[in-house]
Amino acid sequence: MVMPLLDAVDVGPLGGVRLGPDVICDGFRRDCTVRVQTHVHADHLHDFETSKGYQEIITSPGSYDLLVTAKNADLPYRRNFAAVPFGKSIRFGSSTITLLPTNHILGAAQVQVVVDDGRRLGYSGDFQWPMDSVISCDCLVLDSTHGSPRYQRQYRQDQVDSQLQELLLRQLRFGPVALRGHTGLLQRAITLLCGQASVPVFASDRTIKEYRVYEAHGYPPQELSAFPATTRFPGVGLVLLRMHERPPAFIDSNFTRITLSQYISDPREPLLRFSDKDFRVAMSDHAEFAGILEYVSAVAPKLVLTDNSRGGHAVELAREISVRLGIPAVPSTFSLNREWGG
Ligand SMILES: [Zn+2]
Ligand SMILES: [Zn+2]
Repeated sequence: MVMPLLDAVDVGPLGGVRLGPDVICDGFRRDCTVRVQTHVHADHLHDFETSKGYQEIITSPGSYDLLVTAKNADLPYRRNFAAVPFGKSIRFGSSTITLLPTNHILGAAQVQVVVDDGRRLGYSGDFQWPMDSVISCDCLVLDSTHGSPRYQRQYRQDQVDSQLQELLLRQLRFGPVALRGHTGLLQRAITLLCGQASVPVFASDRTIKEYRVYEAHGYPPQELSAFPATTRFPGVGLVLLRMHERPPAFIDSNFTRITLSQYISDPREPLLRFSDKDFRVAMSDHAEFAGILEYVSAVAPKLVLTDNSRGGHAVELAREISVRLGIPAVPSTFSLNREWGG
């Protein structure tokens, strides 16, 4: 039973996850008719343009709106790009596909595929633990981003949130703050400030548009202004920066810089202070080792394929799942097949 299951799933060199004969998640394969886009982080968007030309693309309503905001304006007019609500099943070829939320970022989905021949396949996508409901499958492709027992945080994310909130409010009393982070973390940080700080908040057009999508999906309203066209920043305020965005010219030595980073330097301490005006906060939207094991236990698959294309812990995680949970687990291998790639 286990080996035929393993033949049905595959992780490509760029992180595309194949689930059965019809479905590819977060990547492109010529022989798959449908691409499921689990969420909008860049490492899951490879070959999206190719998929637009050749495949059906489905995603959750939140990811749909974020993709329309981030990508070309033609997206909402394409017949092959559709939003599928969480929990609603949709059929392509011989596959029935269902998406469930993962608590990772807005719109992020787990993917469940039931093939007509009875195989039940799943992909966790990027996920945070705990979550409300998990997919049901016999073979699970598992995100392994923080899948090492060596990187177990000894604090909870709600403690990180309150430390960040405290730090932001304290530093904003003395001067301007530049806060840098990935999509998802930045929006979570904004919610910590809503109703707490009375300073103006500035962001790029893209970040502002993106936050409007978050608001439309239930995040609290926050006034955001475009970057002032000046080289001298007007007094106090918070400036939001995307992770790889070039900082505007007005960011000078008066600014406190805070970076939201998944990287853990001290498992006991989420806040790292480089100087009075330079901090890193270990905010995360990924489950880590203990949470990943709890997720696998909840899904209860017969076989786990750990995703070896992201994070670098797939081999270790597969071994730990086999030993600790007694569920057969193997890391994905990069079998270069001509079907992969654009
Ligand atoms: Zn992600
Ligand atoms: Zn990822």
